[in-house]
Amino acid sequence: MSHIFPRHTKSDLPTAVAGDGCYLIDAKGKRYFDGSGGAAVSCLGHSDAAVIKAVQEQVEKLAFAHTGFMTSEPAEALADLLISHAPGSLDRVYFVSGGSEATEAAIKLARQYHLERGEPQRRHLIARKQSYHGNTLGALAAGGNAWRRQQFDPLLIGVSHIAPCYEYVDRAEGESSFEYGQRVANELEAEILRLGPDTVMAFMAEPVVGATLGAVPAVEGYFKRIREICDTYGVLLIFDEVMCGMGRTGHLFACDADGVAPDILCIAKGLGAGYQPIGAMLCSSEIYEAIAQGTGFFQHGHTYLGHPVATAAGLAVVQQMLTRNLVERAAEMGTQLHAALIERFGQHPHVGDIRGRGLFRGVELVEDRETKTPFDPAHGLAARIKRAALEAGLICYPMSGTRDGRYGDHILLAPPFIVNDDQ
Ligand code: PLP
Repeated sequence: MSHIFPRHTKSDLPTAVAGDGCYLIDAKGKRYFDGSGGAAVSCLGHSDAAVIKAVQEQVEKLAFAHTGFMTSEPAEALADLLISHAPGSLDRVYFVSGGSEATEAAIKLARQYHLERGEPQRRHLIARKQSYHGNTLGALAAGGNAWRRQQFDPLLIGVSHIAPCYEYVDRAEGESSFEYGQRVANELEAEILRLGPDTVMAFMAEPVVGATLGAVPAVEGYFKRIREICDTYGVLLIFDEVMCGMGRTGHLFACDADGVAPDILCIAKGLGAGYQPIGAMLCSSEIYEAIAQGTGFFQHGHTYLGHPVATAAGLAVVQQMLTRNLVERAAEMGTQLHAALIERFGQHPHVGDIRGRGLFRGVELVEDRETKTPFDPAHGLAARIKRAALEAGLICYPMSGTRDGRYGDHILLAPPFIVNDDQ
């Protein structure tokens, strides 16, 4: 009997013993094609020699130095590299151990920024329905996916949720994509006005919505309008690129495609590519300076932040992406994957939509294509697909929406950037 407490106590999962490029191998020798990089994590595959070497060398040289006492070479180098490619005025990096820690830190940083500037009344966070920002209590409160949060609702801070930008389901008849985007972006302004403009601290969104909608980018102009609204009311814009960032969409940072830079940017998953647990929060010089010239202390921290081995892995991952042009490859292979999905499933009676950017693609499943009616949640479609795919030697990431009858099931595909034509 296993003494592991698995997340799904009723499923009997295979034991992974090895990784080989785009494949995982279980204890029985069965190979699984990792079509979703786990949950959009393994962007370099499972056996990248350069990253493995960097981790080995770092652990031999310096395994750990607490950031309360010392900084480290790999952390400094990775921060420099990230900032040299970061959008807008982002110029400081706060390293953490994963995605939830990054979004949690972002919420606290937004609050502290306003405090340092003498605006203690700014305490409201606005996010979007159908988003996922992590599983710690602050991050979970920011997420708008009812299914994930309902058990913990009494423990969560109040966060307002506006509509996501989800053209396939929500664009009205006769409305252009652009008009639709402006309409839903303006929900942010309405919510800011409702709460009182000087009480709102930040708005958080995923540039391309991952787990809860299935690789859904916003329509043209949506995030430009969001940026405008945030600027008008002094509200910080936080982008959660934990899933869609780090080259996944064919851009190093997903928001590059929208031409909009945030005040705070969260990354994780692809940053460590599965070789080490690491995330980061990037912020603008303005935010950093507010703290540096105020209390001089960010009131948030975890023991393993800026871990030397994790940052050495992150540094090697980003170097590999850049020197081997893997972000461009993600864009090219993504176009191919999209075309193949359209050819194979575009006319399938239960496929409603195929979308995404780069190697971040979503297939929406519907009971009825005409009416876009989702399957009854009682079908347990996502779980059945996951099981059937594993049986067939494929790892993909099927998910159910809110189960409120409006948003249905989808399959997320996010293979490693090294995927080849045959695969
Ligand atoms: N934000 C987004 C957009 C995510 O997709 C995830 C994880 O799936 C998280 C935050 C949380 O990241 P982690 O699971 O590393 O805590």
